[in-house]
Amino acid sequence: MRQDRSMDEVILSAASTSPRRPVIAIDGPAGAGKSTLAAHLARRFKLLNIETGAMYRALALKAIESDFAFDEEPPLLQLAASTRIQLVPQSDGNRVQLDGTDVSRRIREPDVTSAASQISIHPRLRAWMVEQQRALGVKGGVVMEGRDIGTAVFPDAEVKIFLDASPEIRGNRRFSQVTPALQSPAVQSEEQLRADKQAIIDEMRDRDRRDRSRTESPLRPAEDAVILDSTALTLEEVLARAEEIVLAHLQPSNSITQ
Ligand code: C5P
Repeated sequence: MRQDRSMDEVILSAASTSPRRPVIAIDGPAGAGKSTLAAHLARRFKLLNIETGAMYRALALKAIESDFAFDEEPPLLQLAASTRIQLVPQSDGNRVQLDGTDVSRRIREPDVTSAASQISIHPRLRAWMVEQQRALGVKGGVVMEGRDIGTAVFPDAEVKIFLDASPEIRGNRRFSQVTPALQSPAVQSEEQLRADKQAIIDEMRDRDRRDRSRTESPLRPAEDAVILDSTALTLEEVLARAEEIVLAHLQPSNSITQ
């Protein structure tokens, strides 16, 4: 087989042997770098990028605004049924519309992050989300990112990557993303910076524990997922390794290392 085929050809050949275009599933814990990786793969392979966490976040925001408890499933399910969540894929991620209003920024704030984690333990709510997510990816041609894409949403995805990293590394990366302006010792004392970082690490640990221990589709790698541990890798190395994984799965007989 030729080694120099363009990516369009690769995607087309994958499509011609299967009823839909490929689905790339990216799962893993908070702060592992899934969104950056998913956005990169979507650009690289000309696929749509769908961030499923944004859907949990959007519904969590509606629950906050409607003053709903996060631990009662039936009212949350009713809320979901009357909610319109739209993801608008862009080159660097998804813009998110909640009932027609752009909430892309608001859903990244800490209260929504915590609420999303809490509402996502409910089995029937997850089933509702999974149904929406399958509909979004039914024709394939997507990089879908979340916690249960390879295990529950698209167990037959052509490519499954489980992106992991040590809790310390994930905490450090998240800290530098959320507080770049505050990181100068001129703005914050060393002690305050340490406390802020610890708070982020603790919050991520809580979310991970909830994600891994819930009864319905807990966070875990699918049996056929490739585990990509980015603890000791640079971003460039992670992206290059992930591209290799995608290419190896879409054209198994074609070595991409040459
Ligand atoms: O990925 P992100 O951090 O935006 O997700 C927010 C929360 O939504 C996560 O902490 C997780 O609990 C939940 N989630 C989920 N299943 C997904 C995506 C996100 O349970 N597929």
